[in-house]
Amino acid sequence: MFVHAEWGGGAEVPVRGAGGEHRDQRGGGGAHGLLPLLRDEGELLRGPARAGPGRGGVLHREEGRGGALVTSGPGVRAVVIQGTWAPRGSKAPDARAAPPGNRAWRWPQVSVQTVPLRPPGPGEVLVRVAACGLCGSDRALCAEDEDGYMRYAGRVRLPLVPGHEFAGVVVEVGPGVHRVRPGDAVTCDNIVACGHCASCRAGATNQCASVEEIGFTKPGGLAEYAIVPERCCFDANPIVQALGAGDGYRVAALLEPAAVAYQGLFLEAGGVPAGGTVVVYGAGVVGLSCAALARAAGAGQVLVFKRRPGGEDLARAVGAEVVYAWDELQRQGRRPADVVRELTAGHGAELQVEASGALQATVPEMLEALAPRGTVLLLGRQAGAVPVELDRLVSAAGRVVGSLGHAGERTFPPLVERVARGELPLGALVARVVTLDQTPQVLQERLPPAGKTLVEPAGRVA
Ligand SMILES: [Zn+2]
Ligand SMILES: [Zn+2]
Repeated sequence: MFVHAEWGGGAEVPVRGAGGEHRDQRGGGGAHGLLPLLRDEGELLRGPARAGPGRGGVLHREEGRGGALVTSGPGVRAVVIQGTWAPRGSKAPDARAAPPGNRAWRWPQVSVQTVPLRPPGPGEVLVRVAACGLCGSDRALCAEDEDGYMRYAGRVRLPLVPGHEFAGVVVEVGPGVHRVRPGDAVTCDNIVACGHCASCRAGATNQCASVEEIGFTKPGGLAEYAIVPERCCFDANPIVQALGAGDGYRVAALLEPAAVAYQGLFLEAGGVPAGGTVVVYGAGVVGLSCAALARAAGAGQVLVFKRRPGGEDLARAVGAEVVYAWDELQRQGRRPADVVRELTAGHGAELQVEASGALQATVPEMLEALAPRGTVLLLGRQAGAVPVELDRLVSAAGRVVGSLGHAGERTFPPLVERVARGELPLGALVARVVTLDQTPQVLQERLPPAGKTLVEPAGRVA
């Protein structure tokens, strides 16, 4: 959901894999620690009360513990993250309240396991996952700091099936589901908003006061099947019809990070200046989605500044004119602000987007080359103060706007439409496709390639 530090050192940390010496103590330790936990507490198995047997569907049901309905047979294969419960600080948080991962969980381990699956409850949909993207948050869930604590700083519940960027086919619907039907292609919003708080009532579900997040506090899409609330499922049939099933589901899985870009550009920053200059800092998938959206929305020129190696071809493929590597500029004795001023005849850029997570480096550059009445949009996150010359905002009559995540209903449908019309070449951002079995290793890579890594849990959809 969030943009993570593209330039941070997060990738170069020791990670303990499934073979590590630390085991989930809550689960009783040992390789079989997970399944009892899921049985007792896990979302996957918590079956809904049913009026009676006999509903049709793909699952073969049997009675589980406590009246929960579970699948018979071996269950479904999923990536699972486990850890050791070790809350920091004097006031011990409650695991059920899903405290921040870096405050509560130690020695994360990631593996592929077979987990039980329950049928969809009221208002829920069972989705066969066709493609699921991996992002910095998923890597942070599997990485540990110097003290062994999970690096992910958002709320999390373990054991967890991660995966929050996915698309697939509806296989079965629970009672009361009317908007989607079995066979539908859907792309999934990972934000499960409460629907009742002041923010939700105002349509800002991304600011929900009691939000749950699929892939962090609820089981996600790095599995053969996922259970998703109907209101988090958006129609992806137009994309699959336009691109075919194979490419269609892959692109549909990219809509979650693209929705972060859409929310920022169109719902928070007020849109793209037609004919103007848009500068994007950060060439991750969110940054390059901004470049693609800006190009499609009529920006005059789109510039991308990046620090990590690779990704130039991806940036050009989505419509960026010029891609600059900071280290090369430095060797030439130049800075990004110099380049922006040169390419705009001294005018500056109307819209500048921070999508790198290195705000201390990028925000001063953005302010220095901001066009009159220009906007700085912050999507990347970095803890700590950023010293800036605020007088630049006064003299340029400029503004700084922040944006968090995406409000599903206002972001996914317009993205589906634009992708289906061929206006957004998001498919160019797919760097590689891996299997579920490769995923634990891929999540622990020190230097992942530029672009999006997708997992196809059941192989390519024909
Ligand atoms: Zn993500
Ligand atoms: Zn809410």
